[in-house]
Amino acid sequence: MDIEIKVMITAPDGTVHTEDIARLTKAAETIGDIGLSIAESKELLLKLQQEIVSAQGAAFCTKRAHCPNCGRKLRCKARGQIRYRTVFGDVSVPSPRFYKCQCQDSPSKTFSPLTELLPDHVAPELLWLETKWASLASYGITADILKDILPIDARLSPDTIRRHLGRVASRMEAELADEQWSFIETSAYQRQHLPNPEGPITVGIDGGYVRSRDESQSHFEVTVGKSLPTDRPSRYLGLVQSHDAKPKRRLHEVLKDQGWQENQPVTFMTDGGDTVINMALYMAPASEHILDWFHITMRLTVMQQYVKGLAQHNEEEAEKLARLLRQIKGFLWNGNIHDGQMIIEDLVMDLDEIETSYASIKALRKAASEFETYITNNRAMIPNYAERRRYGERVSTGFVESTVNTVVGKRFGKRQQMRWSKQGAHLMLQTRTRTLDGTLRAKFEQWYPGMKSGENDKLAA
Ligand SMILES: [Zn+2]
Repeated sequence: MDIEIKVMITAPDGTVHTEDIARLTKAAETIGDIGLSIAESKELLLKLQQEIVSAQGAAFCTKRAHCPNCGRKLRCKARGQIRYRTVFGDVSVPSPRFYKCQCQDSPSKTFSPLTELLPDHVAPELLWLETKWASLASYGITADILKDILPIDARLSPDTIRRHLGRVASRMEAELADEQWSFIETSAYQRQHLPNPEGPITVGIDGGYVRSRDESQSHFEVTVGKSLPTDRPSRYLGLVQSHDAKPKRRLHEVLKDQGWQENQPVTFMTDGGDTVINMALYMAPASEHILDWFHITMRLTVMQQYVKGLAQHNEEEAEKLARLLRQIKGFLWNGNIHDGQMIIEDLVMDLDEIETSYASIKALRKAASEFETYITNNRAMIPNYAERRRYGERVSTGFVESTVNTVVGKRFGKRQQMRWSKQGAHLMLQTRTRTLDGTLRAKFEQWYPGMKSGENDKLAA
């Protein structure tokens, strides 16, 4: 059968333009014949886009073809073309250059209206699509997917997508206001008179490692966090601490975006490291800092594994050590730091005295001694986890760790075989965190209100 597809565009001045955009001859014999093929859809979309963009460009230029001051028709100096890259292919748009009217005093004699409409030759929605997918998968895979399904130029390279993502991330970075030492703006008196806040927010912050492109170091640290309000969707944040000049501002903006106000309680859950604690310092007046229970159990689990190994050599001693580990866990879970520390001391001493042929005894001794220091250094941040749990509050267990895996692991991980510069990783974290928490599109719609579906509907009406 023959299928003809025409487009009919009525310009603002009432002129109707009709164009044949495709003529398809389709069989209806086998399953492979049925429906539009991807290749046909690409051709169709590209031609349709070409017609729509040309008509829009012409409408925009027609409006500016007269002097805004005296209304006289402007003389056309030249007719050029602008190449505009869209989700539905690269289109060329006729772009006239007009002489400015003599009634206007201007340093330049001519102007091109389209450079005002399209200052950037890449469509915002294409930037969004590239940024979103490249935040989730490699640049190469992103280029392949887009070229598979859209009439996008075969020349679209992973490198172009990388540059586009960098541009988007840099724009977001440029919007971030200055860093401050303290973000607390209210006095205790003012806070008493603020409206009742929403429920508490839990913020988990932790570090991860990314393979470095720099020869002098194999890895560098990235910091990621998740802000989890009681009543709103969660948000991610990510940064490269040794590169970022505004870690606190970044955290503050996430809280503000979630409607946080200064009398609203925030619980910061960390591994006790100075950098992550400093990030949250002087941020929320009604805040508490607690050690993520996950970090305690992780260390205890490592020791338990070693003790299991030891049991092959010294069964009795291993049983005794396993009992101590269970006691330590119980005391710390109940926030009984004093008794917990006493047992940790016993553990360290007992380990010192054991004579064994177990190969990993040194590693176990080291783990126990490091654990002792860890608990001593962070004792002020150890709450009664059992009580928190009873009251339905978070104690974590993997909440932060899963964030690190989600934000860092899948895009920066070993399997991606990619090495990163600090700046590259930092910029990627900005678009990736927004992609993962679903706020990337909203950012684009804020920059380009025309991208909102509501706005488009209005255009269509
Ligand atoms: Zn004029």
